Amino acid sequence: MNRKTKRALKKKMGPDAADRLANQVALFSKLPEACSSCTKEFDNKDVEMIKTWKVVVRQDKVRLFCPGCIDKAKEAIDGSI
Ligand SMILES: [Zn+2]
Repeated sequence: MNRKTKRALKKKMGPDAADRLANQVALFSKLPEACSSCTKEFDNKDVEMIKTWKVVVRQDKVRLFCPGCIDKAKEAIDGSI
């Protein structure tokens, strides 16, 4: 994200939200290109995907889960209780 875009975002969303988004974009640019569970392809330029996919960072490993796998994980957790 270049400086001009960041400034425009800050004006539009407020400095905190723009920083959060910039951090998220930076994080997502280092991500795997697919879901770590079902290998569904992830497009790191798709804002909808960035908002709905879940990133799990454990030590140096970045793992990525699509909405479908997040739901499955939730079901598995609910089922075990
Ligand atoms: Zn998945």
